[in-house]
Amino acid sequence: MRVAIFSTKSYDRRFLESANKGHAHDLVFFEACLTAETSGLAAGFPAVCAFVNDRLTAEVLENLAKSGTRLIAMRCAGFNNVDLSAARELALTVVRVPDYSPHAVAEHTVALILALNRRIHRAYNRVREGNFALDGLAGFDLYGRTAGIIGTGKIGAAVARILKGFGCNLVAYDPVPNPDCVSLAVKYVSLEELFSQSDIISLHCPLTPQTQHLIDSRSLARMRPGVMLINTSRGGLIDTRAVIGALKSSKIAYLGLDVYEEEADLFFEDLSDRVIKDDVFSRLLTFPNVIITGHQGFFTQNALKNIAETTLSNITDFEQGRTCANEVTTDVLRR
Ligand code: NAD
Repeated sequence: MRVAIFSTKSYDRRFLESANKGHAHDLVFFEACLTAETSGLAAGFPAVCAFVNDRLTAEVLENLAKSGTRLIAMRCAGFNNVDLSAARELALTVVRVPDYSPHAVAEHTVALILALNRRIHRAYNRVREGNFALDGLAGFDLYGRTAGIIGTGKIGAAVARILKGFGCNLVAYDPVPNPDCVSLAVKYVSLEELFSQSDIISLHCPLTPQTQHLIDSRSLARMRPGVMLINTSRGGLIDTRAVIGALKSSKIAYLGLDVYEEEADLFFEDLSDRVIKDDVFSRLLTFPNVIITGHQGFFTQNALKNIAETTLSNITDFEQGRTCANEVTTDVLRR
């Protein structure tokens, strides 16, 4: 099948070309992000492969459908940038990669927790400058602390397993409790209880209209002073301006982000020669107790291999008329 692949980086190309040996699709790589302006590149391609920050709005989907596209193959788990209702209207099939390595994102989450707690980012710079003073680097034992996990699907459950190993008490909120977490002695509580009991709060739920700005000034007011907040899920879960207020008042003592509300204009590109025009993001960078990574939670060799293999298998399933287990339907909007 001819596939137009958007937002391509060298690593996407490498892993997709290698996985394609078992499929023989006709892969055409575009560096451009998929937007209304670039959608014309996919004219005549029955399949379009897109990534997390590609914008599959109703307008883009309409352009694609008009020029012959029938399949949208997301090479990521999240599908919050796909207008699923429009896709259904246009009879476009949407598939994704729901499960490529929950461990990759979970381990990155814990990397942020450890780096923030033990101030590894500051220690690294100090030691390189010959400054071996310890003032300001004191951390806390994770052992015995309460970690609150919001969303205990594949990634949240993997985080729970790791933090259990550190001896943390685990509380969680999820409308659908996960039996694996229950057997780890994770205690399911209300969101209110999670906010008031947790020393560390880690977000692992999808971005939906219900979870947009789940962390705002109201929820921040319910949290413990000095809380650590980690978001490796989707930027829109957090009202960034409210979080900046909570950093200024020291309500939040540690913030770890792998995702950001307006990341589409920043992440995955080398902007080191340019002026960052996003003042909210720039303010976040000024805090010594904030670590931001550019959406790299998924970025392990294992995950890239699995993403490429599943994406191409999804396309093959569609091409051969098989039901694809990884199809995303509008049913998810009703949950
Ligand atoms: P998953 O579908 O296995 O789990 C999501 C869980 O969230 C489910 O258990 C669901 O019941 C729960 N949930 C739904 N609505 C909720 C709500 N209102 N409050 C609390 N929980 C709710 O998904 P996953 O594979 O664990 O991925 C979780 C999220 O991680 C994805 O939605 C994606 O946004 C993000 N992600 C980030 C990266 C990265 O590189 N940083 C990579 C992959 C996924």
